[in-house]
Amino acid sequence: MPKAIGFAAQAADQALEYFEFERRDPTADDVEIEIAYCGVCHSDLHQARNEWGGTVFPCVPGHEIVGKVTRVGSKVSKYKVGDTVGVGCMVDSCRTCANCEDGYEQYCDNGFVGTYNGEDKHMGGVTFGGYSNRITVAQDFVLKVSDKLDLAGVAPLLCAGITTYSPLRHWGVTKGHKVGVVGLGGLGHMAVKIAKAMGAEVVLFTTSPNKVDDAKRLGADHVVISKDEEQMKAWRNSLDFILNTVAAPHDLDAYLTLLRLDGTMTLVGVPAESHPSPAVFNLIAKRRSLAGSLIGGIAETQEMLDFCAEHGITSDIEMIAMDEINEAYERMLKSDVKYRFVIDMATLKQK
Ligand SMILES: [Zn+2]
Ligand SMILES: [Zn+2]
Repeated sequence: MPKAIGFAAQAADQALEYFEFERRDPTADDVEIEIAYCGVCHSDLHQARNEWGGTVFPCVPGHEIVGKVTRVGSKVSKYKVGDTVGVGCMVDSCRTCANCEDGYEQYCDNGFVGTYNGEDKHMGGVTFGGYSNRITVAQDFVLKVSDKLDLAGVAPLLCAGITTYSPLRHWGVTKGHKVGVVGLGGLGHMAVKIAKAMGAEVVLFTTSPNKVDDAKRLGADHVVISKDEEQMKAWRNSLDFILNTVAAPHDLDAYLTLLRLDGTMTLVGVPAESHPSPAVFNLIAKRRSLAGSLIGGIAETQEMLDFCAEHGITSDIEMIAMDEINEAYERMLKSDVKYRFVIDMATLKQK
């Protein structure tokens, strides 16, 4: 079996460090990928530090993977050696439940197999993610990546991109819609770019006045400082859709009241402690909906990658070396990143 090298957490309270392990040889249906870049998602940190519980150590995080195909199994028809490909948050699912059959593998009734800390059906134990030099994945969970885009900037599309694209698509955001995006981090900056490319008028809500210029550069038509009640009032009953990316508990009513009749606010950030419950009156007053959304299915992730290639959309990134990951986590906790760290896997060397 091919040897792999990567960075792993050995325990919740330990820094990530160099780690050697094995990947499986490609089965008939598998694609082997040499990883070029891996984005750094907040979920990686939660998992490595066991903040959600259930982390199996050692833990190799990383689910924003791009690279080149190095080997394919005998029954692989979708990919050939040398293709540029991506892998996101899932590497398998049951493939037989109603949701899987409808292309919603992320909502698999039997639980999808996460790219890391998922049940590894081939090797036993748990799956190891993209903070590594290679990975073997079933062809149906591999995505085609256009060579038109900067590859490092594509990596975060595999989680941050699809997490924001899927709800914007599902709720039918299109030309003429007024769309609010709450928060300008890894998810929010992708939401601004994608909503804008879908033709929406984009209103970005942030607590930080120093993000105004950047939000406009990224495509926001308007920027609202959410702590300013007068500015918030000006948008009451006006927005068709709000994508709320904030992962800290906050007052949802402040945003629900900005929705027009039949408007929806969808949450994609997951706070450690829940938001205070919104007032029912704010929902019934304009038949408003409050919803949630989780990543996207495989077919939709491919659609998102194709959409981004067509519109020239990538993530704004800060490239780091593999051994800078622990420092990057500390900076991520302070929201000190514009807007996603991406690990250059060429910096990961055998010890
Ligand atoms: Zn993620
Ligand atoms: Zn399923």
